[in-house]
Amino acid sequence: METAAPPPRRAWIEAFGCQTNLLDGEFAAGDLRRRGWVPAPSAEEADLVVFNTCSVRQHAEDKVWSRLGALAERKRRDPSLLVAVMGCMAQREGEEILRRAPVVDVVVGTRRYGDLARLVEEVEGTGRRVSALRDPSGGFEEPVRDVTVREQVHRGWVSVMRGCSHRCSYCVVPSVRGRQFDRDEASILEEVRRLAGDGATEIFLLGQNINTWGRTLPGRPTLPALLRRVHEVPGVRRIRFLTSNPMDIEIPLLDAMGELPRVMPYLHFPAQHGSDAVLRRMYRGYDRARYLELVGEARARVPGIELATDLIVGFPGETEEEFAALLSLVREVRWTMAFVFKYSVRPGTAAAALPDDVPEPVKSSRHAAVMAAQSEVEAALLAARVGTEVEVLVDGPSAKRPERMAGRTAHHQLAVLPEGAGGPGEYLRGRVVRATARVLHVDPAAAAAPGRP
Ligand code: SF4
Repeated sequence: METAAPPPRRAWIEAFGCQTNLLDGEFAAGDLRRRGWVPAPSAEEADLVVFNTCSVRQHAEDKVWSRLGALAERKRRDPSLLVAVMGCMAQREGEEILRRAPVVDVVVGTRRYGDLARLVEEVEGTGRRVSALRDPSGGFEEPVRDVTVREQVHRGWVSVMRGCSHRCSYCVVPSVRGRQFDRDEASILEEVRRLAGDGATEIFLLGQNINTWGRTLPGRPTLPALLRRVHEVPGVRRIRFLTSNPMDIEIPLLDAMGELPRVMPYLHFPAQHGSDAVLRRMYRGYDRARYLELVGEARARVPGIELATDLIVGFPGETEEEFAALLSLVREVRWTMAFVFKYSVRPGTAAAALPDDVPEPVKSSRHAAVMAAQSEVEAALLAARVGTEVEVLVDGPSAKRPERMAGRTAHHQLAVLPEGAGGPGEYLRGRVVRATARVLHVDPAAAAAPGRP
């Protein structure tokens, strides 16, 4: 009598943190699928739970510790449950995770995510728990990923480098992701072609400090040159890249953005602070004047460019006067988007040696003040778009109004369409008929002429 095939094993990957982490998670998901695992509808229904972790702030790690704690009871009831931890916290804590969380079977570091699926099966076979870390500054071969495993058909993320060779004093990235390691141009273009061939029309190039891409490669190719090559890949309609740090921005990059129509007029450009004294304590390598000079260059060389940024409030020693310099920078630069964070001490960083002396309530009130100033700027920038025409790449149902579709303009601004208009992956031209705090309301029926916004 034929015995029924066992049901496929189900895996749940919970991601925290940046897009590079999400991309590593997509790789792990593709590798698990190749080995017969299927995605689980929830963590509760999974045979394998994977936490893809972030270390950029303590809060991100605390969330994972509590998730692991919550799984202990379930593992007692069902010892066959498998639990894995990957990403930056895995790299930073390593064996400590196995010691502190008996529920965990596999720990893989930031340059071993390609081994996750194999190690899970190894543990299944031997019952021995493992942690696989590699010196994050050692050599690295980017594993070939299954590009069909991705969050959105129309968008493809491509990692062009790993790690960062800067040492910003608050940042944990160099210690968990290692020194800069660049992927060669051929493997990047090959992945872009596979993504475009599989329906991705928007390509996001990813790197912690993407402006320096190529510095570790023979012949030192540059990001502007890479953008020109990606620009020629058939099927690619929009190109974006992040993260661009001011200390490494060069004019040829801005010129390439101005010349290449498929490179979107949007730059993620972290200032972090507006006070020269704080920027020095952050080891950022530029001052306020230089940042503003680069903003001027970007706006002069890339027509209609919109800028986004990251900002940290409450850095050690931040005085009222220094904070005022940050607030005034918000009003002076007028970013279309700002990701604002409260300073969080990270072990192993230079700033960890400084007293975290800005009280939490002060951090919170400064955070709120920056958010309020930024919201005013954003509302004004969006209001100024009313009556203009924009092209929207539709992502899917709006988070707030699921009966309506939402997407992103060329400036990466969030746009919502009328009910019944558009579907995921569609490019729709429309007129901005209304703007609210963070959203443009775009009506394709009101669009007049074709062409770029
Ligand atoms: S540039 Fe600075 S903030 Fe950015 S990843 Fe490198 S060390 Fe961290």
